[in-house]
Amino acid sequence: MSTIADNLQAVRERIAAAAHTVSRPPHEISLLAVSKTFDAEAVRAAVQGGQRAFGENYLQEALDKMAALQNESIAWHFIGPIQSNKTRQIAEHFAWVHAVDREKIAQRLSEQRPAGMPPLHICLQVNVSGEVSKSGVAPADVAALAAAVAGLPKLKLRGLMAIPEPTDDVARQRAAFRQVRQLCDDLRAHGFDLDTLSMGMSGDLEAAIAEGATIVRVGTAIFGRRNDS
Ligand SMILES: *Cc1c(COP(=O)(O)O)cnc(C)c1O
Repeated sequence: MSTIADNLQAVRERIAAAAHTVSRPPHEISLLAVSKTFDAEAVRAAVQGGQRAFGENYLQEALDKMAALQNESIAWHFIGPIQSNKTRQIAEHFAWVHAVDREKIAQRLSEQRPAGMPPLHICLQVNVSGEVSKSGVAPADVAALAAAVAGLPKLKLRGLMAIPEPTDDVARQRAAFRQVRQLCDDLRAHGFDLDTLSMGMSGDLEAAIAEGATIVRVGTAIFGRRNDS
């Protein structure tokens, strides 16, 4: 087995153990392999290790990998911040977008999603407390954004995504993820049909799973250290 296949197996075991600890069925949690900065051959090794869903942050890099891997059946997720001038190619080439935080971007993605393709699956990125990042919708504004996105014909609103500030303190990790889950529960109580919490990365996936994550986005633990981190 290649290192990538070994790492994938180890991450699957971490997910199963974390689910077991909180009595959740492990199949409720799907693994998104974050392949940004790694080449098509690394993605191919992960595909050979049984992985099908990949997350990318940089559009041109992702398009190059898609072209190199067009014979593989891969679900591509765009997980990075989105600039308006990139929405058309994102709408044309991806199955999911995780970091929608503005109505204008959502409108463009819906308008630009090609007619023959299924709706684009959308998560709204929320900026929970303690987060240093400028991206993500404020918790107070998430309901209005959800209502706008739910009304767009070529988008399917699936849930929320967050990138809390990294910390080794598990109690703080869990508090941030719990806030995301509570926001999602509030939206459900207001009638939104949501089934996805995209949260948890290499360093905090156990805490995210304990708080209800349904997609964990894992890069480093599968592909190794990146030059950008
Ligand atoms: C890079 C990235 C990840 C993966 O992070 P790791 O710590 O390498 O697991 C997850 N989500 C987003 C949005 C990212 O940009």
